[in-house]
Amino acid sequence: MTTDVDIEGVILGGGCSGLSLGMQLARRGSRRRVVIIEPRTEYGDDRSWCFWASPDHGLARRTTRQWPEWLFGAAGRSPIHHRCEHAPYQYLRARDFYAEAGAWITADPNIELRQGTRAGAVHRSGDGVAVQTSAGMLSARWVIDTRPPGASAQALLYQCFEGHEVRPSPATAPDPYRIELMTDMRADDLGFVFSYVLPLTRERVLVESTRFAPEPVAPARLTADTEALLDARGWRGAPRERTERGVLPMGLVTDSAPETAGIVRAGIAGGGLRAASGYGFMRIQEWAHSCAEHLERTGRPLGHPPEPLVRRVMDRVFLQAVRSNPERAADFFLGVAGGLDAAAFVRFMTDGARPRDYLKVAASLPPGPFLRAVMKPRGGRE
Ligand SMILES: Cc1cc2nc3c(=O)[nH]c(=O)nc-3n(C[C@H](O)[C@H](O)[C@H](O)COP(=O)(O)OP(=O)(O)OC[C@H]3O[C@@H](n4cnc5c(N)ncnc54)[C@H](O)[C@@H]3O)c2cc1C
Repeated sequence: MTTDVDIEGVILGGGCSGLSLGMQLARRGSRRRVVIIEPRTEYGDDRSWCFWASPDHGLARRTTRQWPEWLFGAAGRSPIHHRCEHAPYQYLRARDFYAEAGAWITADPNIELRQGTRAGAVHRSGDGVAVQTSAGMLSARWVIDTRPPGASAQALLYQCFEGHEVRPSPATAPDPYRIELMTDMRADDLGFVFSYVLPLTRERVLVESTRFAPEPVAPARLTADTEALLDARGWRGAPRERTERGVLPMGLVTDSAPETAGIVRAGIAGGGLRAASGYGFMRIQEWAHSCAEHLERTGRPLGHPPEPLVRRVMDRVFLQAVRSNPERAADFFLGVAGGLDAAAFVRFMTDGARPRDYLKVAASLPPGPFLRAVMKPRGGRE
C-alpha cells in the first residue's frame, strides 16, 4: 500500500465521475499522485450511457451505436419525430467505458485504483484532508468525493427505471434506425410513466419502463412495469441478455456544502445530473476535463460549475409542474418536443440552449400549471 505522504489527492468512488477524472489525469500525463477508492472488486456491465454529442467526442471509439432520429409519443396524440445528423443520440455500454478508463488508469503509474476499499468519514487535518477507509486512514492535500448522495438528500422527482436488453423475433423487431425516447407517455397512481426503447442492432433491443415519481418506486413495481411493456410489444419471451435499473434524483438538494477547502463533491451528489432530465454522462465528462485541467494548473480540485440561473429556475419549475400534474406531463413533454426543432432540442438537452430556445419552450407550455409551479414551495403538490 502507498504511504500516505505520497498521495496528493484521493477520489472517493471509482464510478463514472471518479474514473472519468482518473482517465483525464492519465491522458494529460499528470504527475500528481492520486488514489481512487472503490468498494467494488469487479466492474459489471451494469448500465449504459446515452447522450447527444458530435460524433467525434473523446469516447467515440467506445461508442457502439448512434441514431440521428428519435420519437416522442402518447396514446391519442400525434407522435413527434426529431432528426439531427450533426449531434446524434449515442450509446456507450458501461463495460466499454470501464475498459477504456481502466486502461488509461492502469497504464499510469501515478494513479492507483484501489478496489475492494470503502471510504468513510472525511475531515480536515492540518493542511490536508484525512479519509477513513476500510483499509485504514489516508491523508492527502485534497479529496474529491463522488460517492452517491446520502439518504438525507432530497429530490423533487425520482427517475426510476428498469430495463432489459432482449432479442426479439425478426417479426417483432423495431425499426433499427430510430429510437423511442419517450413513448407510451401516461400517468397512473404513482405519477408519470413512459417507455424508452433503443434498437441496438437488428437483433437486440434495450427496453425500459421509466417513471418520474415524487418518491423512489419499489423495485417490484418497476419490474411489473417492464414486464407489462415487454408483453405489450410481444417481447416477454424474448431471450434477455442484460438488465439495468436505477433511481436518479432529479432536482437534488445536496446534503453538504458544495465545497470546503480541499474537499469537493462531484458526480450526482455534486450536481452532476441535469435536474430536468436526469442526464449526467456528458456533464460529468466535461467536469472531469475541467477538473483535471484545473488540478494540473493550480493543484486544487474543482467541483461542477454552478447551474446558470435561467436553467436552474426553468428546470425547477418544470419538475415542479410535472410533480404536481403527472396527468398533464405527456402534454408538457410533447409541447417541448413540438416547440423545438431537433437541433434546438439537442441544445436544450446538452446545456447549450439559447435565449430563443428558452422562449420557445416557455411558449409551448400551458401557462396555468407553470405559473402555479413558480409560486409553489419546493416539493408541494396541487
Ligand atoms: C442504470 C443507469 C443508467 C443511466 N443512464 C444514463 C444515460 O443514459 N445517460 C446519462 O447521461 N446518464 C445516465 N445515468 C445517470 C448518470 O450518468 C450515472 O448515474 C453516473 O454513473 C453517475 O456517475 P457518478 O460518478 O455520480 O456515480 P456512480 O457512477 O454510481 O459512481 C459512484 C461510485 O461510488 C462508489 N461508492 C459507493 N460508496 C462508496 C464508499 N463508501 N466509498 C468509496 N466509493 C463508494 C460506487 O461503488 C460507485 O462506483 C444512468 C444511471 C444509471 C444508474
